[in-house]
Amino acid sequence: MSDKPLVLVINAGSSSLKYQLLEPDSGTVTADGLVERIGEPTSVITHEQGGADTVEELHLPDHRAAIDKMLELFAAKGTDLAHANLCAVGHRVVHGGRSLYEPTLIDSHVIDEVERVSPLAPLHNPPNLVGIEAAQAALPDVPGVAVFDTGFFHDLPDAAALYAIDRSVSEEYALRRYGFHGTSHEYVSHRAAEFLGRDYDKTNQIVAHLGNGASMSAIKQGRPVDTSMGLTPLEGLVMGTRCGDIDPGLLLHLHRVVGLSVDDIDQLLNKRSGLKGLCGENDFRSVTEMIEGGDADAKTAYDIYIHRLRRYFGAYLVELGHTDVISFTAGVGENAVGVRADSLAGLEGFGIAIDPERNAVRSREPRVISTDDSTTTVLVVPTNEELEIARQAKAVVGG
Ligand code: AMP
Repeated sequence: MSDKPLVLVINAGSSSLKYQLLEPDSGTVTADGLVERIGEPTSVITHEQGGADTVEELHLPDHRAAIDKMLELFAAKGTDLAHANLCAVGHRVVHGGRSLYEPTLIDSHVIDEVERVSPLAPLHNPPNLVGIEAAQAALPDVPGVAVFDTGFFHDLPDAAALYAIDRSVSEEYALRRYGFHGTSHEYVSHRAAEFLGRDYDKTNQIVAHLGNGASMSAIKQGRPVDTSMGLTPLEGLVMGTRCGDIDPGLLLHLHRVVGLSVDDIDQLLNKRSGLKGLCGENDFRSVTEMIEGGDADAKTAYDIYIHRLRRYFGAYLVELGHTDVISFTAGVGENAVGVRADSLAGLEGFGIAIDPERNAVRSREPRVISTDDSTTTVLVVPTNEELEIARQAKAVVGG
């Protein structure tokens, strides 16, 4: 193995743990893996290293057990992480509240603060903390660095960040638009500028991160000025299982008239909405197959998805005045040719024109999909949140 510093990136969910071991300088990935169904009778770990997959089913009662198992698989493949050239463990932490936004060396103050703001991200921050504590216990000599999903959007202008509600309430409870997927928007916008040889601080960009979760951001002269997710990752675009923007009066109606509890409404909007709620499938490939098979609900779901995307493109094009670059990223954005074409169709009058042949090219590299005359350059830029987290973590520890 090379003697360059390595970073172990950990993304802990409520019953899952994603990890990747990589060299931040070159981006070379030594190994990655996923543990699912932690705490259930049968957990599954998939570990990929040296071109081979190892898949094991076993009972992993908690995240500590999952991390111990991960270390065991690393060792079995010849990488003893306790003695590898590991300069940091980089943790994806979803919500940093107002005070934590820079990548930060984890100490007891950071842990307390992440815990304190957990009510703002109740599904994400508690498992992120469990991941941090499990990694600290397993690798006590390696510094942990928290990289916040909200960080990139910390300085959104008030006009974009504040909700138009009684300020005494929003201030007391820190209710504002925080934005999420920050590491992806940051990575993709920098990669886009680099790919085009442009100065980041002199470029106006829109990034459409379209995965199972989806969000858009507007970046003016290098500064994020708007994003579609808000206090929680529920606001904005139509997603796999999340509704995105909705009339807040609908929530009141669901409670008062339909009689749903707050937990029922939470379930409905987070798990049974979006594409899944509209046509029964949240995976975009399945939705596409259903449309090809003539399913009318799937077609309506697709139309709603595209309509919302176009509405946000319209808003951000106006906010930016002139847009130099639009980038599509994440599972849907990188692969769904039709979504890219349909969401920007008919905008030649705005200086945006997609080239169908370029758009149809499949590749894992950044690429231009607009015509040569398009005044806005449209790109596909594969995201790499792990690399961004690894680079930021290494910069914090000075490795
Ligand atoms: P992500 O959250 O970035 O992993 O993206 C997951 C989404 O990307 C799922 O809805 C997938 O169906 C979708 N996706 C992945 N590959 C393709 C593809 N080749 N065509 C269309 N959608 C895809």
